[in-house]
Amino acid sequence: MTPFSARSNAMPPPSTNTPAYTIKSRIIHANKVVIPTQRYDLKPPRGLVADDLRMPNFVKPQEMMALLTDTPNYNPSRLAITHGLVKTEFAFVFPAIDEQWRRAAGPQNRITRQFQGGDVFAQATIAVHVLHADRPLEKNKLSEKLFVVIWEHELLHVLDDIEIMRDWLPEKVRDDEWVKKYMTEARELDESSFDHYIRKDKLTPWLRDGFWQEERNRRAAIRDAPARYAELNEAIANIRSRM
Ligand SMILES: [Zn+2]
Repeated sequence: MTPFSARSNAMPPPSTNTPAYTIKSRIIHANKVVIPTQRYDLKPPRGLVADDLRMPNFVKPQEMMALLTDTPNYNPSRLAITHGLVKTEFAFVFPAIDEQWRRAAGPQNRITRQFQGGDVFAQATIAVHVLHADRPLEKNKLSEKLFVVIWEHELLHVLDDIEIMRDWLPEKVRDDEWVKKYMTEARELDESSFDHYIRKDKLTPWLRDGFWQEERNRRAAIRDAPARYAELNEAIANIRSRM
């Protein structure tokens, strides 16, 4: 057994160059109205909480098309009609930029910034859109059923988006080159890079396009695999035929 003191001696000395930081997930629902599960006999996927169940935003077909065209990796030839869509905005947020990025003047008055640690937020703003034609109508059980079939599917994407932020991204983001260099190792960042990545928030698209989007697409492809999509479309057609 190695005595504790010997072990701790072998560890690198504490250094201001390795700041402690925590990446926390922050979920914002763009849809505002919370719907109790019993209202529509909804069976939400395990992993979502009551607060995650928000009334979707109902859109006309042309609005849905516009939302879809704006979606990366969307393949328009695949689907005839899109009944629902989850749009999620990713952001990487430093809640106190000036405290978290210390400004220092080096030789020849060269201004640099150095990361000081603290909390950083991996933020997802989630919006669920469903076709207006699929909305639940008062005293119309079949319209409620139709809506629930579509909503339950969209909630799987919501769950993915939440789990990506909560369970996947905080660890994964530490492997990113930029994060490793300028956050974990706290290397000096010149003022123009700081301005670009932090002030102008270009770190967000860097991380979003770098790997968040890829993971999101990977999970969406599983949810929307042809067999599962056919099942959903069949369920929709089934209810529609009885309406
Ligand atoms: Zn889907």
